[in-house]
Amino acid sequence: MKIILLGAPGAGKGTQAEKICVHYNIPQISTGNIIREAMKNETPAGLKAKEFVNSGALVPDEVVIEMVNDRLKQDDCANGYILDGFPRTVPQAEALDQMGVQIDKVLDIEVADDVIMGRMTGRRVCSKCGATYHTEFNPAKDGVHCDKCGTELTIRKDDEPETVKARLQVYHEQTEPLKDYYQNKGNLVMVEGVGALDEITAKILKALEA
Ligand code: ADP
Ligand code: AMP
Repeated sequence: MKIILLGAPGAGKGTQAEKICVHYNIPQISTGNIIREAMKNETPAGLKAKEFVNSGALVPDEVVIEMVNDRLKQDDCANGYILDGFPRTVPQAEALDQMGVQIDKVLDIEVADDVIMGRMTGRRVCSKCGATYHTEFNPAKDGVHCDKCGTELTIRKDDEPETVKARLQVYHEQTEPLKDYYQNKGNLVMVEGVGALDEITAKILKALEA
């Protein structure tokens, strides 16, 4: 199963991807996590990405496309994967097509901008394994450490309200056109992303089985 998760920043792509990948036993490929790891390790791509990520802009297409191309060649991708946060531009979607990738379903998680602004202040992330939490809506068991790997949770620098506003604008301008792109290909499914986490997961799994 090859799945793309589309949606605004904060729509719940990462949170839902963590559950879907367990259900299908396929890897979650989050370009945000790959980029943050590269930034932490100060690789050439990570150093290039830093200014874009911290200002809320997208990292240049060629940098992200190369990262994804490399990742999809790894053995664990043989039975499928969830792309969480890629593609985010039409050229990225075209690059995926050119790699010969056949996507089964594109799930668009719909959440209004004002709901997202409210969510982002409570987001906490694990910088080691990439897991995502929310102080109120999806708290870690002890509120401080990652349930999966025990690492202390942190606040993402790009989750400050001004940066989130910039990211939402970028989303509407550059990523939202992908809804039409995949609608035209016939594999887009829209899911309402407001409500209980488990209910949204159930709706997504139902849409994937359809
Ligand atoms: P994305 O990967 O799309 O940027 P996340 O999965 O990181 O979004 O979700 C953004 C924040 O909103 C996180 O703190 C997450 O725990 C929280 N969140 C996700 N889904 C819901 C939901 N249905 N209701 C409330 N909060 C949610
Ligand atoms: P995310 O964790 O998905 O919210 O991504 C965090 C940041 O990483 C984004 O705001 C972008 O700066 C960058 N990023 C992640 N995925 C992509 C992508 N597909 N194309 C360009 N930039 C990306």
